Amino acid sequence: MNGTWYCTDCEQRIEKEDIDDHEADGHHVKGRFQPDRLLPGDPEMVGAGMDTADGGDR
Ligand SMILES: [Zn+2]
Repeated sequence: MNGTWYCTDCEQRIEKEDIDDHEADGHHVKGRFQPDRLLPGDPEMVGAGMDTADGGDR
């Protein structure tokens, strides 16, 4: 799976490994998956792209 993660509080792209650190600080992290990486007929990739974050601060 190939995607980028973006912290809306830091306003910068972050590494997947850094997500927990940012969320621990109360930051909002969004996942962005590039559509051109999603091949038609690959439901697993499409499903993963829709789900950005599990858990969080709510
Ligand atoms: Zn952050």
